[in-house]
Amino acid sequence: MDSAPLLQVEDLRVEFATADGAVEAVSGVNFAVAANQTVAVVGESGSGKSVTALAVLQLLDGGRISGGRVLWEDRDLAGMDRAGMRRIRGNDIAMIFQDPMTSLDPLYTVGHQIVEAIRLHRKVSKRAARERAVELLEQVGIPDPRSRVDAYPHQLSGGQRQRVMIAIAIACSPRLLIADEPTTALDVTIEAQVLELLRNLQREYETALLLVTHDVGVVAEMADWVVVFYAGQVVEQGPTAQVLGDPRHPYTAALLAAVPSPTTDKALPLAAIGGAVPGLRDMPSGCRFHPRCSRAWDDCTHTEPALYALPGGRQSRCLLQHPDRSPADETAGELAGTAGRESA
Ligand code: SF4
Repeated sequence: MDSAPLLQVEDLRVEFATADGAVEAVSGVNFAVAANQTVAVVGESGSGKSVTALAVLQLLDGGRISGGRVLWEDRDLAGMDRAGMRRIRGNDIAMIFQDPMTSLDPLYTVGHQIVEAIRLHRKVSKRAARERAVELLEQVGIPDPRSRVDAYPHQLSGGQRQRVMIAIAIACSPRLLIADEPTTALDVTIEAQVLELLRNLQREYETALLLVTHDVGVVAEMADWVVVFYAGQVVEQGPTAQVLGDPRHPYTAALLAAVPSPTTDKALPLAAIGGAVPGLRDMPSGCRFHPRCSRAWDDCTHTEPALYALPGGRQSRCLLQHPDRSPADETAGELAGTAGRESA
């Protein structure tokens, strides 16, 4: 990362209370987002990526930050009170959620909801805020914005509702947009349009983007930097082209192998990652990925890998990347580790 980070997440831990005691959903996560940068957080469902994004804005439902810091311009959002967070949310950092139908209030027009978002942070008249709402709807590509400003969410298509959510998010020109699976509920054509819109707005508003996604294709298209999550931990991170071109963690490699390419033989099944993300109460010992890893060996079952620093600012949480490990060890590890693993 060349410029100083806007957002710095340091050793973040999040836990949820259950009837059987607290469980940790995010275990010591570190990453940063610089001004104008797009950082993608990628991983399967249950990897902790959305919980991390929600924790940044203290929007955890039933969970709490149990450790670490979320630094925003030297202020720690993790310890900030409600009034402070209200000033940050929507103004400095705004969030776009996965499902606009549950995020927009069905009882109010979209114009009313944009006006509210503007007037929460800006001292402007209702009339001026409404004019700004029309402008924003036009900017996000809603046709006939002057009449659509009075539409209710159910009168718009799914793609249009997501555009309204984006209009609300950019209403106060935040410096960081967090988008949690912003295109999951949309079909492929609309997805491409919404991603293009996000890219254009990011350029225009000079906003940084933290994009949470399970889709490696979206990462490749959008992100400068990628953070790969598995079982509540960061397992790899680095510049997108380097990580996707030469993954240094078997989980990243497995995610990539599961993505169809134009040259994929359609007669062959795509490589799936065997098994499932472990439950919060059933974290494996050693490397959390070892029950699913085709390169695991005995050490992986009892030695917990750290996040090892690699050249170019990259990091990998895999014993194969341990700085004291030689290529010969790696070969031995691979040979010992292939038996008994689920095939991809
Ligand atoms: Fe696989 Fe072992 Fe690396 Fe974990 S530490 S990713 S089990 S090789």
